[in-house]
Amino acid sequence: MTDLALVNANVLTMDPGRPRARAVAITGGRIEAVAARPDGLRASQLSASRVVDLRGATLLPGFHDAHNHMTGFGMSLTEVDLRAPGVSSLDELYAAIARRAETTVPGAWVVGAGYDQNKLGAHPHRDALDRAAPGRRVWLRHTSGHMCVVNSLVLADLGLDAVAADVAGGRVAADPDGRPSGLLEEQAQALAGSLVYPYPLAQLTDAIDRAGTQYLAEGITSCTEAGIGGGWVSHSPVELAAFTAARDQGRLRVRVELMVASPVLHQLGAHPDDGLELGLDLGIRSGFGDDWLRVGAMKLFADGSLVGRTAALHDDYAGPGAGRGYLQADAAQLQATIIVAHRSGWQVATHAIGDRAIDVALEAYARALAQFPRPDPRHRIEHFAVAQPRQVALAAKLGVIAVPQGRFAAELGDGMLAAVGPERHDWLYRQRSLLDAGMVLPGSSDRPVVTGAPLPGIADMAVRRTASGVPFNPGEAITVPQALYAYTAGSAYASHQEHVKGSITPGKLADLVVLSEDPAAVSLDRIAGLQVLATLVDGQCRYDSGAIDGLS
Ligand SMILES: [Zn+2]
Repeated sequence: MTDLALVNANVLTMDPGRPRARAVAITGGRIEAVAARPDGLRASQLSASRVVDLRGATLLPGFHDAHNHMTGFGMSLTEVDLRAPGVSSLDELYAAIARRAETTVPGAWVVGAGYDQNKLGAHPHRDALDRAAPGRRVWLRHTSGHMCVVNSLVLADLGLDAVAADVAGGRVAADPDGRPSGLLEEQAQALAGSLVYPYPLAQLTDAIDRAGTQYLAEGITSCTEAGIGGGWVSHSPVELAAFTAARDQGRLRVRVELMVASPVLHQLGAHPDDGLELGLDLGIRSGFGDDWLRVGAMKLFADGSLVGRTAALHDDYAGPGAGRGYLQADAAQLQATIIVAHRSGWQVATHAIGDRAIDVALEAYARALAQFPRPDPRHRIEHFAVAQPRQVALAAKLGVIAVPQGRFAAELGDGMLAAVGPERHDWLYRQRSLLDAGMVLPGSSDRPVVTGAPLPGIADMAVRRTASGVPFNPGEAITVPQALYAYTAGSAYASHQEHVKGSITPGKLADLVVLSEDPAAVSLDRIAGLQVLATLVDGQCRYDSGAIDGLS
């Protein structure tokens, strides 16, 4: 017997064979039937345990954020929020830190996140942080996640109070007199991390629960966690266990795919004929797991951040003395890791922002595919931020999936335009040229780097305007239907999961979101404000705004 019939709905299926429908029947957590007319379901389906009239509301597949940091976001909900416009000057930042310090015991940590020096005028400085939070340890993460600032107590813990040290793939920044300023870039962040890592699993499980609760309210039913277990994105070497615990406790609220940070993979000692050189113990690799929790790609950082000006470009950043950024490791070493991971059966997701880093990734993918052919590996380039036309063509030819973030234009766009200068504006965060080249575009936020709710992100994929109102490479704007497809079917494809989710098609998982109106039928400025009326996972209502009778 049918469990649930949703009738009188405006169904946007994301199934090219039948893009629009009016009713959906659900059984056993799966889509049973899709009908073009509200009364098009069979009588047996219309006598379902529950028949819910959606009164014309819009029904979509649940949103899938193809690149987010769920644990980090959940933890950030308890940290000092330093994002603009809430905090729009250094004085306001220091005041926010001082307020938190008052309720923090001496010696304990004051952690803040989300500041952007492009909006504040400069990075915060250790001396001012010492004055704002005397006797406390202060650690402030940049909005990009690629750098942080600490105060003198933390620098003293690290032996960096008076003199900077060299760090491979990173930098301990110093004032002109050579004294560290508190700013730690890229791999140097691991120094501060070493003082607090690993976090206890219980703390991470709480963060996953908090994040998931908010995701459901925003219509998200799946997300891809962009790196766990190692490197500076890690919270614990046993981070996967926090997700397993959340699931055991009924607190894993959305489906999660876990990318594994490249430092976690190691030599396996398998038989040479197996080709399994690099991986996780027991031969676990991409695809292991089930519909709720699965292992995704190996995540590898080729470079850093565009707004932080650490990403590796072929030509200098705009402005005097700005340099070209840097790779996170020697190019040959990065490429060797990519090729051996490919050979060992992994999907590879390379973080590559600058055009130089993108070349490193594309060359490695091309060589891997030539030397060790393998069907449909769907290697990814995360961000693909400054991409030359020839790089788009090569990515398309290699079947690579580029994973840009629509919301970056609105929140980070001004800093990005300034960083690359006008001659490279047309290369920034492409979308339309990827589709034109025949590539599949996923939808993602990189939360907590920027706001992660899908509806503002979808609007931004079509609007392409910065916070100050400047058009952001507007030729790369896509339509709202294309953006909706990206955030559902596109993201499912990027995870090799299009056979189970991403569209409202009989047999697929009944992960659904109900919206107050059709995002494709309202003006662009209204999309972000549309209401999520309900979110269903496995055919069960997991978020209910109370606007629909009889759903939960
Ligand atoms: Zn990320």
